[in-house]
Amino acid sequence: MADTPRALVAGNWKMNGLRGASAELEKIIQGGSAGQVDLMVCPPATLIAGFATLAQGAALMIGAQDCHAEAAGAFTGDLSAEMLRDAGAVAVIVGHSERRMLHRETDAEVKAKALAAWRAGLTAIVCIGETKDQRVADQTLDVVQAQAQSSLPDGANAQNLVVAYEPVWAIGTGLTPTPADVAAVHGFIRGLLEGRYGVAGRSIRILYGGSVKPSNASELMQVPNVNGALVGGASLKADDFLGIARAYA
Ligand code: PEP
Repeated sequence: MADTPRALVAGNWKMNGLRGASAELEKIIQGGSAGQVDLMVCPPATLIAGFATLAQGAALMIGAQDCHAEAAGAFTGDLSAEMLRDAGAVAVIVGHSERRMLHRETDAEVKAKALAAWRAGLTAIVCIGETKDQRVADQTLDVVQAQAQSSLPDGANAQNLVVAYEPVWAIGTGLTPTPADVAAVHGFIRGLLEGRYGVAGRSIRILYGGSVKPSNASELMQVPNVNGALVGGASLKADDFLGIARAYA
């Protein structure tokens, strides 16, 4: 289909990595290619500038993991989207379930952060997904719809938005939904994006995230409307990260 987006495999390093981790990044740079898939690593903020320098001219983008909604001000410890862009990031993850749960971020705050990302010229990677209880109660599609409705700003397109469907119960647990379950949710999200953004909604990437590893990547990445992966644990090792990207070889 003409609108099928090019796949993206993005690594979320979370709060992992000291400067010595640049050796792992160099392995990713050497092993990555400008083939069928875009690659991105989102390291902790302390590593963004160094990694962006290392990745210059390579087929690897550097992203960030969170931003404040304001451009500057008295917000001790926070980082603005403009600062992340200035450090060399091209995208920022917002609304990750760890931020929604551990920092009590609301959909409205996630949306404000996505708008901040756009203001700074970054792509917003907006995470949505249900908890185990919500899945068991058969509320998955309702939760995803409500989060998408309230977390995603108007005016999205394939350049400024990536949606990551991350079932909370699959993150870091080794559990994954069945391909049929992933297909149902991703198809539903595609419908929401098309309904809201029209033609632009057809080419906005929808990543699957939650315990993706080299051994399950091919199966998950073949699911219709899965346009890549957001990878946590397995993105910390170059071999595993590149093994996932090879699902698109
Ligand atoms: C994540 O935290 O975004 C994630 C997908 O983690 P993991 O791959 O470790 O489940």
